[in-house]
Amino acid sequence: MDKPVILTGLRSNNDLHIGNYFGALLPLIEMAKNNSGKYQINLFVPDLHSFTTPVDHPGLYKQTLHNLRLYVAAGLPIDDTNIHIYRQSAIPAHSELTWILDCFTSYSMMQRMTQFKDKSKNLIDEQANSSEITVGLFNYPVLMASDMLLYGAQYIPVGDDQTQHIEYARDIAERLNSKFGDLFVLPKPVSEQHKFFGREQGLRIKDLVNPIKKMSKSTESDKGVLFLGDSPQSAKAKVMAATTDSYGRINLDADNQPGITNLLQILSLLKNESMEDVANEWVGKTSYGDLKTAVGDMIADFLVKLQDNMSKVDENSIINRLETDEKLMNLQANETLYKVQRAVGLRP
Ligand code: AMP
Repeated sequence: MDKPVILTGLRSNNDLHIGNYFGALLPLIEMAKNNSGKYQINLFVPDLHSFTTPVDHPGLYKQTLHNLRLYVAAGLPIDDTNIHIYRQSAIPAHSELTWILDCFTSYSMMQRMTQFKDKSKNLIDEQANSSEITVGLFNYPVLMASDMLLYGAQYIPVGDDQTQHIEYARDIAERLNSKFGDLFVLPKPVSEQHKFFGREQGLRIKDLVNPIKKMSKSTESDKGVLFLGDSPQSAKAKVMAATTDSYGRINLDADNQPGITNLLQILSLLKNESMEDVANEWVGKTSYGDLKTAVGDMIADFLVKLQDNMSKVDENSIINRLETDEKLMNLQANETLYKVQRAVGLRP
């Protein structure tokens, strides 16, 4: 760990949609490319975190490889040795450190985590079985702290919903450092994270059927969600059936014409043009059908290219990369874990 570490995780529970692609995946790849060289970049698959909410167990392993292929197809440089790709579950130190940190974390501290409150409320709203609200969901911020502290990660791009988890990781690291001597490098405070990465752009692609809600894989119906694995024809059909309004004139107006505005937004992302340019071309026109056809054709083209790129990604190159990086990450993580084990009296 000679260079400062940037750490970020890519969950692989489900098929991703275009909101994930433009809102998370592309910015993450850009960030990794821009900082490679000056920083060590840890791009890990938090597969142990997958179990904090219901998951398709038989499909999980395949989904992990599928999503890594997607990242490579979207431009992640697989041969850049500054970017480390690894599975959390392949580094046992994550689980071991979590247990130790658990025993230094008060129940009341975890109870204050708003993510747990929100996610468990969502499960209750979805009328999930109460056994689905697990201890794993409750204390996953501790696993998240281990993810960071094992590698001395200083920069972790997170949304506002994860702010508390960075603060908790700093807190536990500071407390153990003052009790046992310098064990951990602290993640930077949230304000510095924002300075480093820039605030989240706030991009929110909306559901095609209900454009008041954000596009999300947890929505009951797939009709409003453009999945990256959709066939180009079915994606176009979803766009053609998108909810619009009865104004009869295209405007950029998220409050009154959320469906049309969402289509303009999607078009600007697919064409890689500013919203201003897209608006110049479309605002004032009256045919919603023309706009839908333009977006539908663009999404179909986009999916043809992306899926073609994916089919060309050699899965062996990903597996080789995982094996090499996981060896190195085990060395780094075990060094930290050993320091902690000695400090707490488990080792001589
Ligand atoms: P999720 O798995 O739903 O938490 O999504 C992972 C990440 O994808 C989020 O943190 C966002 O950065 C991004 N994302 C998810 N849904 C959307 C959306 N509808 N529009 C833009 N970005 C999104």
